[in-house]
Amino acid sequence: MRQQRVDETPLQQRMRRFANTIGVVIGISCVVIFAAGIALGNSVVDMFKVIVGVAVAAIPEGLPIVLTITLALRVSAMAKRNALVRRLHAVETLGSTTVIGSDKTGTLTENRMTVQEYWTAGEWYGISELQQHAVPRDDEHPFVLALLTSVLTNEAQVRRIGADEYEIHGDPTEAALLIAALKAGFHHEEWRARHPVVGEIPFEPELQYSASVRARGDEHWMFVKGAPERVMRMSARWLTPDGELPLDAEAQEEIVNQAHQMAARGLRVLGLAYRRCKKHIETHTGVPEPSELVFIGLVGMMDPPRRGVLEAIDECHQAGIRVLMITGDHAATARAIAAQLHIAPTDAEVITGAELERMSDEELRERVRTVKVFARVAPEHKLRVVRALQANGETVAVTGDGVNDAPALKAADVGVAMGKSGTDVAREAADIVLADDNFVSIRNAVEEGRIAFKNVRNATFFLISTGAGSILMFLFAVLMGMPMPMLPAQLLWLNLVTNGLQDVAMAFEPGDKSIMRQKPRAREEGIISKILWERTALVGLLMGSAGLWLFTYEYETTGSLTRAQTVALTTMVLFQNFHVGNSRSEFRSAFLLSPLRNPFLLVAAIAATSVHALALYVPVTQFILRVEPIELDAWLRSVMVALSVVVVVELHKWLRNPKLAREGI
Ligand code: ADP
Ligand code: MG
Repeated sequence: MRQQRVDETPLQQRMRRFANTIGVVIGISCVVIFAAGIALGNSVVDMFKVIVGVAVAAIPEGLPIVLTITLALRVSAMAKRNALVRRLHAVETLGSTTVIGSDKTGTLTENRMTVQEYWTAGEWYGISELQQHAVPRDDEHPFVLALLTSVLTNEAQVRRIGADEYEIHGDPTEAALLIAALKAGFHHEEWRARHPVVGEIPFEPELQYSASVRARGDEHWMFVKGAPERVMRMSARWLTPDGELPLDAEAQEEIVNQAHQMAARGLRVLGLAYRRCKKHIETHTGVPEPSELVFIGLVGMMDPPRRGVLEAIDECHQAGIRVLMITGDHAATARAIAAQLHIAPTDAEVITGAELERMSDEELRERVRTVKVFARVAPEHKLRVVRALQANGETVAVTGDGVNDAPALKAADVGVAMGKSGTDVAREAADIVLADDNFVSIRNAVEEGRIAFKNVRNATFFLISTGAGSILMFLFAVLMGMPMPMLPAQLLWLNLVTNGLQDVAMAFEPGDKSIMRQKPRAREEGIISKILWERTALVGLLMGSAGLWLFTYEYETTGSLTRAQTVALTTMVLFQNFHVGNSRSEFRSAFLLSPLRNPFLLVAAIAATSVHALALYVPVTQFILRVEPIELDAWLRSVMVALSVVVVVELHKWLRNPKLAREGI
């Protein structure tokens, strides 16, 4: 049975510690209010009721709910955008991701390969220009041998379903080779049937090749295809216009050159080789590692970038996130695709797995600061790259699909597995799974993660700044020896009509373009930023003192405590329901955020204010809350005073950061 992870996420832990601290502050404030109230001659019972009311009004009891709802909403938004969350902490970690290390094939590119050309025995064969009648029929012809090798070391299935349309099963690289053979007039089924399998080494990324031993007449032939250098290392001879010749240093250089030129055009290049085995190869111990092969030539295929990836990478750059390509493919292919996708300039440095192996951890740490492209890497190299980045203080999201990618996926701050092409092992190890294997979905997940944190932060700010308002109002009242500005029942009511739904509604606040124009948030950054602490103090002082001032004014002009308390309560209700609009954005002006973007919040604030207004005129609530109807002029005074919170917060936003007040988050 799978064990369910119930661990709290870092944000939940931080939230719990934060709530504890706030609790202590509220506790101390209540003790002060209680002691001062008694010293000033209030009864113990009355003061006790007051501090219970104050505590209820000030304690941000909605926080855990807001946090849970925010995370849940973001998880479901991510799912709609093809990123399935397996571990909840990924939501918030994605929000502070600074580096994304992505596979190339399938994630950045379509993984829909089309063979462009073969190069063998000094000749080029362009697949799109092939005239079927021009294709040699001779079984020993180098080009036919090349096609045969591509087809026989191949586990894919392809069916023609239209003029130039094919239904493919299996590895796209291999399917592309079958389609190329079909275009040249050779049917793989027929070829496969004519050459029964003796033994096979299927393709593994670590091997970088696949091999197959086939019966051909009364001989056994071994066919190999794979990374050109790898296949070359297993070869002793090669096919040239002058026939089979030893594969000397000069020949190797020639092959490497040709492969490099193809790769530099962004093609994926494979090498092909075969061997005629006079003696049957023993297969009860499996197929031996190929050696003494005859190198046939190269095949180059094209894998175009996926739509939208280029834009997503540009957006990541704008969002202060570095994008790295970590691929098993050839350095030149990697560089060419990286340049097409704006990951790195055309002449960018590329680190290969072999170079990486020779580097010390310190050296690698230095290099990963600037290098963006890693080619010919094996999964263990990927793990080292992730570790080196983390040692530099980066928050790393990395993709992987193979079984051996699991350690790197686990080590990364956010492991991203492929839902379509990935293995179960990789998915198990990952924090999120991409339903469409697409890089664009990673960018979208980062955006959702940022929205999650923003909403939690803003809702927290709303709750603690309004709580500060209530506490300070009572603190000022007792310190100035004034009667209690609100009754305990009124404090409970205030809590209900101001914090009841609005904080939860803040979890529904959407993101906008600006969210991907900010730098990633530092992971250790607190739930409330410095600027929001400042604003909490401002808002608390304003609500407490202005609310109390209006209370005093009403008390002195009318002489009715009930009337003054009703006005004080109404003012606080309005304060908080206006302030919810301020709290929707840390930086941006409330006037630049359409209220319709979050209809839930708009409705919650209007409904709460209306319910309160109604309560002043309904006998039951009049009795329970000890309130009475107030006239229009008192309403106007309340509204005017309460609007001051909008003015003050707007000023704070514009004075502290005018640029972000216009376009910030
Ligand atoms: P990539 O990120 O390019 O898909 P892989 O780790 O899957 O890298 O593969 C490593 C290398 O093995 C490839 O660059 C290519 O040279 C070679 N290769 C890929 N697929 C096959 C295959 N089906 N058969 C033989 N060789 C392959
Ligand atoms: Mg691959």
